Parts: sequence; C-alpha cells; structure tokens
Amino acid sequence: MTNKILFIANWKMFGTKKTVKTINNVIKFSKSKHNKKAKIIYCPPYTLIDSIVKKTKNSEIDVGAQNCHFEKNTGPFTGSISADMIKESGAKLVIIGHSEVRMQGETNLIINKKIINALHTKLKVIFCFGETLKEKKSNKTKLVLKKQLILGLKYVKNLNNIIFAYEPVWSIGTGKVLDNKNLRTQFLYLKKFLKTKYKIKKPTIVYGGSVNDKNILNLKKINEIDGFLIGGASTNSKKFIDIIKKTIN
Ligand code: PEP
Repeated sequence: MTNKILFIANWKMFGTKKTVKTINNVIKFSKSKHNKKAKIIYCPPYTLIDSIVKKTKNSEIDVGAQNCHFEKNTGPFTGSISADMIKESGAKLVIIGHSEVRMQGETNLIINKKIINALHTKLKVIFCFGETLKEKKSNKTKLVLKKQLILGLKYVKNLNNIIFAYEPVWSIGTGKVLDNKNLRTQFLYLKKFLKTKYKIKKPTIVYGGSVNDKNILNLKKINEIDGFLIGGASTNSKKFIDIIKKTIN
C-alpha cells in the first residue's frame, strides 16, 4: 500500500473545532524535510471530517471516518452515515470493525458487508480485529483472529486496499501492551496467514493498543509492524508528533 510507516489517529468521540486548530504543528511536521518516512491519517468524528480535509488539503495527510453503515448509499437508518456520504465528505478511508463498535453489537457479518460496500465506494478500509482478555486467557487468540479475518473478508476482492489493524481488545486504553517477543510472533503469524490464504503479496498490518510516547521506543523495534493505530495519544498533537519522531528517527 505504502512503504511509509503509518500513523493513524483515531480520535474516537473526542475533538472539537478547537482541537482541529492544534493539528497545525502535525501538518507542518508532515511537510518538513525531517519527515520522509511517516504517512499520517486522521480519523476524527464525522463532524470534523470536512474541516480536517480542508486543513490538510495541501499536505500528504489523509482523512478517514471511524465507521460507516452497511448500506452503501442511503436508507431509513437514523443516526447512520453511509460509505457514499463519507466519500463525499472528502475522506479517503474508513475504520471498520473497531472493538468499541463490535461491543455495541456489530457482528462479523455486518463488518463484512461494511467492508464490501466501503471498498466498492473506493474508500480504503482500516479493518480492526483482535482478541478479548477472556479469549486470550483461554488460549483462543489465534482461533479468534482467524475467524474475524475469514468472516470479515468473505467475498472481498480488493484486498490490497485494506490496512489491517491488529488491536488486542484488552490493550486498548488500558496501558497494557504485549511484550515484543509475543507481539512479533503474532505479526509473523498474521502476515503468513494473509499471504497464504488471500495471496496478498505484502499485507499492511498496523498495531493498535495503548501506543504512547514512551512504549513506542520498544514497539518500533518490531520490523513486522507497518504502523500504528493510536487512540488516546493522538488527540494531543505534541505527543502524536513525538511518537512519530521517535519511530522514524
Ligand atoms: C484505538 O482506539 O484503536 C486505540 C488503539 O486506542 P488507544 O491508543 O487509546 O489504546
């Protein structure tokens, strides 16, 4: 997809017009000669997509949404946004399958429909998957990841337009991160699985779960990780730049 290291900011239900102003420094950094290696993607709440798209227009920063409805265009779905609407707002990507959405009842079947529609709309997909603490404790991690991938990718064709985001649910927002040895093993397994089962030559897999300006020094040692999906730390521009700098330097 890209040879650069991905830094995807998932703002979740945070961010106001005021927060948008604070990304000026990130835009400046993304354009500076010090940055040749990082590709930045902002996924703000729907309400801020338009203003961030405008603000980042003359930069290489891309904008994504955090979810979409499983119906492609329009319909009687109060409170929902379709892939077509997201595309029209200027976003180029959409996060699908985030554990915080799965927890609200989003099934693998719904995720699969969303992925197919989003790709059909020519949005790139950031496909999140990961095991819960209960699944990890009962040694079901591999089984769960495989199931989420197989069901989520059923009938999906443009697999090269997917960024895979491995996010252990127990790691999101908790400060807990798997040790490097096990995380590397997990990435090797996932890459092998995607290469052999889906014939994706170079799958792009990012890691998400409590990435911050301290643990990044350790995480960046895992060469198999193609980038990071960052929640909490990404709404603070200073911390976000710090994470990027520490990774690419
Ligand atoms: C996320 O929201 O995908 C995430 C990884 O959050 P955090 O970085 O806050 O754990």
